[in-house]
Amino acid sequence: MELKQPAFLPTNRQEMRALGWEVLDVLLVTGDAYVDHPSFGAALLGRLLVARGLRTGIVAQPRWTTPDDVSRMGRPRLFAGVTAGALDSMLAHYTAFRKKRHDDAYTPGGRAGARPNRAVIVYSNLVRQAFPGLVVVLGGIEASLRRITHYDFWSNSLRRSILLDAKADLLVWGMGEVPLVAAARTMLQAEKAGLEPDLTGIPGTAWMGGPEQVPEGQAVIELPSHESLLEDPRLLMQATLASEHHVQRGDVWALQPVSGRTLVLAPPPPPPTSRQLDEVFELPFSRRAHPGYSEAIPAEEMMRWSVNTHRGCGGGCSFCSLALHQGRRVASRSRASVLREVRSLTRMEGWSGSISDVGGPSANMWGARCTLDPSRCTRTSCLFPGVCPGFQVDQSAGVELLREVARQEGVRHVRVASGLRHDLALQDPRALKALTMEFTGGQLKVAPEHISERVLRGMRKPAREVFERFLEEFRRHSEAAGKEQYVIPYLISAFPGCTDQDMRELADWLRRRGWTPRQVQCFIPTPGTVATAMYFTGLDPEGNPIHVARSDAERLRQHGILCPERGRKPIRGEGPVRGPKPQPGGEPGPAGKSGKDRKPQRPDKPDAGREPLRGGAAERARKPDRAGKPKKGRSPERSGRPDRDPRAAERPPGPRRAPDSAKPQAPGRPSGSRPPSGQARKGGRKPPR
Ligand code: SF4
Repeated sequence: MELKQPAFLPTNRQEMRALGWEVLDVLLVTGDAYVDHPSFGAALLGRLLVARGLRTGIVAQPRWTTPDDVSRMGRPRLFAGVTAGALDSMLAHYTAFRKKRHDDAYTPGGRAGARPNRAVIVYSNLVRQAFPGLVVVLGGIEASLRRITHYDFWSNSLRRSILLDAKADLLVWGMGEVPLVAAARTMLQAEKAGLEPDLTGIPGTAWMGGPEQVPEGQAVIELPSHESLLEDPRLLMQATLASEHHVQRGDVWALQPVSGRTLVLAPPPPPPTSRQLDEVFELPFSRRAHPGYSEAIPAEEMMRWSVNTHRGCGGGCSFCSLALHQGRRVASRSRASVLREVRSLTRMEGWSGSISDVGGPSANMWGARCTLDPSRCTRTSCLFPGVCPGFQVDQSAGVELLREVARQEGVRHVRVASGLRHDLALQDPRALKALTMEFTGGQLKVAPEHISERVLRGMRKPAREVFERFLEEFRRHSEAAGKEQYVIPYLISAFPGCTDQDMRELADWLRRRGWTPRQVQCFIPTPGTVATAMYFTGLDPEGNPIHVARSDAERLRQHGILCPERGRKPIRGEGPVRGPKPQPGGEPGPAGKSGKDRKPQRPDKPDAGREPLRGGAAERARKPDRAGKPKKGRSPERSGRPDRDPRAAERPPGPRRAPDSAKPQAPGRPSGSRPPSGQARKGGRKPPR
């Protein structure tokens, strides 16, 4: 059935009726506010499902004390898709020291508290309460990274697949377009035939089944069972590396026994072609928050005039969730499609002439491809320890694309706010020169992350010399352009394998250059990554023991080596460590004062274990115990249940929503109500890792 794309997907009965929809085919429940922009997963998938003829509605940030929000548009015909939003809800809510965050870029007013802890589990429960027997499909970063047994930093324990805890029917891991549409088609066909839908075997999904569901002749990765991982936590490294391999190979199945059953993971779908990506990004997004919101949503403001050119990152940094979610294979939009999107921006209300960012997970990977056979690849990164000869990218073509964007009528200014992969940038001096001279808006974000050889190896990041060479080139080109420009280096403290000595080495290096660090993050073990397995097991990927700073005291001490004022007296609050303003050409200088350079993170890029430092006596008191042994006492979260509904006790003043009122409503929550975390930094993405 052909469906007209609505101005916004419906969020209540009244909006459904206005579209002439009596019933929904698919209901999407999300932990983010509803912003109709391709960087917001639920909005993008909703529009795609409508384009495929499926009447799709969105409930954003529903109350979790009652199923009323989830049920307000009635039972959908096919299924409910559930996501925590752009970030894992625990990461969104808690700092590196398990303190509650106070803001959330994906919520009106930027306030914390609009979604529950472990939102995927809580929302699934709500859906089952509202619509018993309805198929529930999990997706988004929280479900994706928790698809097999994983270490959960916030409860300091190994948890089984979230599919089981959410009691859902299917888990979509990775990018959702192909699996979600395939699941919907399967259900439609089953409905026509009057049969129960068989949702097994869809690429990019996981379900509870059995080994017999793997088609004959297909390669299978046998992951250690959940129970064996509980018995021998060191197996987590093996399981995590195997999971990485599962994503990279692209043609293998994976099985994990758990609780007497078997978790089956189909191979991922092939990366989207340019044509497929073009279609998705050119759906008629309004690029605005739903009109029911009365307060600004920080992420909307940050993303509105940005253009996404590609997905995926070949970097494979050990702490980055991206490789496990989007994959290492880069999928790029066509030049024509990017330009069409830019022209459409210039016709939109509120257009000021500036594009805040043109890029993807990394600024300089548009058009990158593997010229070898990625399914036979045994490397864990296309760029580490050196750039693989099979990794081909024409960075000059990327610069030419930027120039074309800048030449479009109505465009006055184009910035590249996505981070640059500096080792790759050195491979094309002409492109680096052009980027530095023409498209760097005074500050360039780069993520060396550390300086110590040993730590960099654990991170799968380029060596110090590579970063130093890059700085020299950047300085040279900035001077040649007569521009005062700075490098903003992102750094991580307390990374697994990092000792006080390594931090001192980094501090000395910075001191010798006259730099005071401004973007230092204490490592957070996010679910599913190799770095998290290192943190938990105390082993490197080769199985060698490493030092791990686990206690808050040691983590703070490592941090304090770079940022002495924080190390002496931990300071609560958001924001990167602030310090001297950089000097031209990459040399930071005298002390800065504001948080002006705090850049909200792009919602399409998951946080990769970095976060602004917070600390305090309470944080120190809540030390994690030894690996695998949950600490007794109060944890930030218990059994998937939210601590409380913040709206009950702390509802701020402001209008409350009346369901199905005549006025357009904020999709899923009263305008002016309050939500969680401030993951974001203003303006643009963090550098690629
Ligand atoms: S062969 Fe090289 S370019 Fe291709 S996936 Fe492997 S590391 Fe990346």
